[in-house]
Parts: sequence; C-alpha cells; structure tokens
Amino acid sequence: MVGCHDLRKGDVIYCPDCGIELTITAVCEECEENSCGCEHECVFECCGTPLVQK
Ligand SMILES: [Zn+2]
Ligand SMILES: [Zn+2]
Ligand SMILES: [Zn+2]
Repeated sequence: MVGCHDLRKGDVIYCPDCGIELTITAVCEECEENSCGCEHECVFECCGTPLVQK
C-alpha cells in the first residue's frame, strides 16, 4: 500500500478501479526515505481501493 513516505514530487498514483490519476506536487516532510514518521497510518483510497503508484 502506498504511504506518503513512498511518494516523491512528480510521482503519479492512480485508482485501478476508475482510473483517476493524482500527481504529487508536494511531499510529506515528516517522513524519511523509507520510514514513515507520521503519527497515524497514511492511506490513499478511491472507490474503496488503495491507490497504486505508476
Ligand atoms: Zn502521511
Ligand atoms: Zn509522512
Ligand atoms: Zn476510483
């Protein structure tokens, strides 16, 4: 599942169900390269489905 620590500027995530695409234009500043520093789990969903990275 994609979390904000996986995302870099310019990355695109999309919904496999409806096809919507979101481009990342700003990143989370609380997360290091591979670890999430967020207090709560970050979930990106559309249509009840987790968005996936292109
Ligand atoms: Zn986050
Ligand atoms: Zn984060
Ligand atoms: Zn969708």
